Amino acid sequence: MTRMSVLRSDRAPESFGRGGPHEGVRVFSDYDADLTIHCDVLVVGSGPGGAVVAKELAEAGRDVVLLEEGPPFGAHQFELEAGRAMQNVLREGGTRATRGNMFIPTMQANALGGGSLINSAICARAPDWIWEKWNRETGVELDAATMAPHFERVEKFLFVEPTPKDVQGPRNLKFKEGCDALGISSEPTWRNVKGCRGSGECFTGCRNGAKKSTDVSYVPAAIRAGARVYTSLRAEQVVTQGRRVVEVTGHVVEPMTNRETHGFRVYPKTVVLAAGCMQTPVILQKSLALTSSEWVGKRLLLHPGLAVMAVYADPIDPWEGATQGYHSLHYLREGMKLEVLWSPPAVLAARLPGLGSAYQGHLKTYDRMAPFDVIVAADHSHGTVSAKRSGYDPDLRFHFHDDDVKLIQRGLAILSDICWASGAVSILPGIHGIPEVLGSKAESEVLRTMKLRGSDTITAANHAFGSTRMAKRREDGVVRDDGRAHDLDNLYISDTGIFASSPAVNPMLTVMALADRVAQKIAAAG
Ligand SMILES: Cc1cc2nc3c(=O)[nH]c(=O)nc-3n(C[C@H](O)[C@H](O)[C@H](O)COP(=O)(O)OP(=O)(O)OC[C@H]3O[C@@H](n4cnc5c(N)ncnc54)[C@H](O)[C@@H]3O)c2cc1C
Ligand code: SF4
Repeated sequence: MTRMSVLRSDRAPESFGRGGPHEGVRVFSDYDADLTIHCDVLVVGSGPGGAVVAKELAEAGRDVVLLEEGPPFGAHQFELEAGRAMQNVLREGGTRATRGNMFIPTMQANALGGGSLINSAICARAPDWIWEKWNRETGVELDAATMAPHFERVEKFLFVEPTPKDVQGPRNLKFKEGCDALGISSEPTWRNVKGCRGSGECFTGCRNGAKKSTDVSYVPAAIRAGARVYTSLRAEQVVTQGRRVVEVTGHVVEPMTNRETHGFRVYPKTVVLAAGCMQTPVILQKSLALTSSEWVGKRLLLHPGLAVMAVYADPIDPWEGATQGYHSLHYLREGMKLEVLWSPPAVLAARLPGLGSAYQGHLKTYDRMAPFDVIVAADHSHGTVSAKRSGYDPDLRFHFHDDDVKLIQRGLAILSDICWASGAVSILPGIHGIPEVLGSKAESEVLRTMKLRGSDTITAANHAFGSTRMAKRREDGVVRDDGRAHDLDNLYISDTGIFASSPAVNPMLTVMALADRVAQKIAAAG
């Protein structure tokens, strides 16, 4: 029996999302016929970008419908084993990657709550200078003062606070120790959690109910304000007449199998696409909507990231502590952010070098390891999102530019300095063409001196944006800075696709603040 068939048979779709924080959410087993739905506002996608709009507009008295392709997951349904967790929650079972001058894995969720369900809950505001940069690049007139109240509203609603010391655990504090010794500024990450126990399980879903992902925060609030939430509904086409969307169509899809059962049609007055920067362009391209804009699916941007593993002499029990509790914004202006990382054992084990007894040796030091990572803004690297002829998974291309590879190499070298300064006895660099284990600071100088190619690295990128970017002029982007399409009067986009370029930091809080503003603009438009 294959792994997939085990997954399909051991959990009935009916068991998804009954009661608890998901009370009122419609699930797959609720649908026994084709659906026809009328509403004021249709929001497609329940991740950070969509859920905020749904709640705010429902509270403003609009008749809101929120559609989500994935199912809800309750805390009791999260699987600690990475393979199963990824099959359950991630698009393409976690195997999605961009193609180009190298493969870059990128994880995107398919669940109520979108990426917020499986992310590390880091909430970082795009720095003030980012708005000036976006203004220079696309003419949008956002600034720190305009955005501040939107950030504040989201932060307050989500209990965003710095990670307290008592849940940092030794792994996060080792990073602080290394930064302190080198005079590199660092700080506890701010996160949307309440009652975090520092279990380091954010990636497979918070079994402690501490993470305020949108499925347990904004979505229930939207329902309380009267929104209707339908999961297992995949939006596939927007039907337009002149400058207006008149209908959105799609199918009911069974969780795990993607089997289509019934069809649906929604007749909204306003549509907000928030399906994520890799799915919203697919919906538009399949619909031939907005394709007069040359920017739909163009200029996909990523934060490529690399991790280096510090190995210490004594156990630090790295599984204890907030998943990503500490970071450094010291090099942000240069395009680099440094972080502590943690992921499930199976994911980390895949990152360990060697074979046979050498590999076993690394597994034995598992309790002495701490992964630190660098993500880069990659301003020179671009990609595309294109709908495939069949299915709804996108064709993703991305070219990792040599200048950005140089930047990530610089970050890698700084991370190795942090490892040594925090007391590491060796480091595992995870780079092809150099020794698998570096045993001293002198040995690790190779990380500075080598001619690194992107394809020598094990790079991944879970932060993605820009595929339907905002711009002042329709010639330069798909939407205006309020999310409204230049070419369709009642279509808005509210996901990271609208970013003019990189937000420099982790994107969730910025897309939520922008979504808060999109909602206010829709409410004000009457
Ligand atoms: C492992 C991981 C860790 C991360 N950690 C952080 C972090 O700590 N902090 C941070 O700021 N960012 C983090 N990110 C990134 C962050 O989660 C994303 O940037 C964010 O979720 C994007 O929000 P979004 O609303 O644009 O899209 P998404 O979160 O992708 O939401 C889109 C939603 O639309 C649904 N959808 C897609 N297509 C359709 C369709 N056709 N019909 C109906 N529904 C559809 C999807 O299922 C999904 O629920 C992380 C990402 C990953 C994968
Ligand atoms: S570290 Fe553990 S308890 Fe804290 S939010 Fe993440 S999964 Fe939940």
